[in-house]
Amino acid sequence: MSEDQYTFQNPVTRYPVISPPKQDQPEPGLDRDLKPTTDRGEETYRGLGRLTGRKALITGGDSGIGAAVAIAFAREGADVALNYLPSEEPDAQEIAKVIAETGQRVVVLPGDISDSHVAKKLVADAAEALEGLDILVNNAGKQISVERLEDLTDEQWEETFRVNVSAMFWITKAALPLLPAGSSIINTTSVQAYSPSPNLIDYASTKAAINNFTKGLAQQLAPRGIRVNAVAPGPFWTPLQVSDGQPKDKLPTFGQDTPLGRAGQPTELAPAYVYLASAESSYTTGATININGGRPTP
Ligand code: NAD
Ligand code: MG
Repeated sequence: MSEDQYTFQNPVTRYPVISPPKQDQPEPGLDRDLKPTTDRGEETYRGLGRLTGRKALITGGDSGIGAAVAIAFAREGADVALNYLPSEEPDAQEIAKVIAETGQRVVVLPGDISDSHVAKKLVADAAEALEGLDILVNNAGKQISVERLEDLTDEQWEETFRVNVSAMFWITKAALPLLPAGSSIINTTSVQAYSPSPNLIDYASTKAAINNFTKGLAQQLAPRGIRVNAVAPGPFWTPLQVSDGQPKDKLPTFGQDTPLGRAGQPTELAPAYVYLASAESSYTTGATININGGRPTP
């Protein structure tokens, strides 16, 4: 690795300003077919042993942000279990291979967590395979752009809440009896929690709920030595965006309206998750780290 995340560099030019062609993938979309491809840190993320001996479950760990987090966790010395939808097997296998090269244990656990039984079993399976659990990353998410509220179906409203909010609740609840003091729960919220786009009413509402859940639960679990934090990404180039997460005409300029002038690459989020997972952040709970290219947040 000649360059890594510690290399002194200009954040404006660290990655090119991308202008993705209009493209469509059926939900949930594959990193494999994304144009241009994304940087999940395969070539650049260098671990320093910050998560040595830790055991992590990451939902949506096959692609995008979750994949970048999974690679970073493994390079920092953690064993990792990845959850994703069965149709995402090609992406999951690719990330599992990158992790296996670190020598850490990787377990793949496909399953649709919008089903509460699947969500609860996922936690048990991960803890059994990893022989314990001390990091939980609730990162799976559903985002479908709809211009008019009249066209937002009841089914989409409920499904978005089931995947983004209810599954987080089911998984966290199932994990709690297994998490020892020192454990860390990290939820992926969004800049949408503060600045909702008019075409993402259901999605943005779930992200506000995730932020609120994080801050309430953090207080409840603090005396037990379990920390709960969130990361709020801005525009990151991932499969979510092309599987109807954005209107198609927005894709060519995706992320260009941020102060840094470009979309984020998933690996640029990984250090925040590593920090929140590790004991370095022992006095940080109920926090949200905003990583959004400079958009002001309250
Ligand atoms: P992504 O498509 O790579 O990841 C989303 C993942 O969610 C999928 O890989 C899939 O495995 C999982 N998922 C969706 N429905 C599921 C279900 N029913 N059961 C199991 N897994 C399911 O895209 P991403 O952008 O990396 O998204 C990861 C998280 O980041 C999401 O919560 C998203 O809302 C959040 N986020 C993304 C951005 C961005 O700009 N990309 C910004 C803010 C927040
Ligand atoms: Mg995926």
